[in-house]
Amino acid sequence: MQVIGLTGGIGSGKSTFCNLMQQHGIAFIDSDQIARQVVEPGSPGLKSVVETFSNEILNADGTLNRPRLREIIFAEPKDPQPREKLEAILHPLIREETLRQIDSYRQNPEYTQPYLLVAIPLLVEGILKTGRKPDYIDQIWVLDCSQKTQIQRACSRDQSSLSQIKNILGNQASRQQRLQHADKVIDNEKGLEELERQVELLLRP
Ligand code: ATP
Repeated sequence: MQVIGLTGGIGSGKSTFCNLMQQHGIAFIDSDQIARQVVEPGSPGLKSVVETFSNEILNADGTLNRPRLREIIFAEPKDPQPREKLEAILHPLIREETLRQIDSYRQNPEYTQPYLLVAIPLLVEGILKTGRKPDYIDQIWVLDCSQKTQIQRACSRDQSSLSQIKNILGNQASRQQRLQHADKVIDNEKGLEELERQVELLLRP
């Protein structure tokens, strides 16, 4: 079983692709979901975040107040320290849970598929920062489409404004940087039928 790091920019079609692959029996692990799971109420992750940033980052019901945490982290844009402290808490927990989930597929005799997808939106950004890809990933697949298509699709899906989406795009890796790290490129410029056709080609024995 090959572990595939699946990535792509905002609105590039990662979730759509994972869902199509799932219909063909290929499982996926969602790293965004793991990132939320490790700071659920009662988790050691949330406890550490509170120890570092105080009760101020909790809502009244004990859940993480994400907007408040974001405010603290970006209060001094030139000071990377709060963000680095948060990452030092979360990254090992996210890695540990990802490894645990990968391992449970490896140990499952009923999971006989050739691939397991791990969707990591900021995979290439992480590689650019650390100089290496996560060691549990065998290949990187990139969902690729033009910025214009990304913006159109993200705008019609989200409540976010055009300027918010452009701002997110500007803070992500460029299309070129992502393509440079791709072992496989999935072209998602065209419609869903074309994406489905590529899924079938990928899974053809
Ligand atoms: P994000 O990282 O921003 O969460 P994503 O990469 O997971 O996004 P999706 O949510 O899969 O992207 O796709 C963005 C939007 O574009 C969705 O509304 C989806 O239905 C639509 N979409 C994806 N691929 C296609 C396609 N080939 N044709 C038409 N619409 C598409």
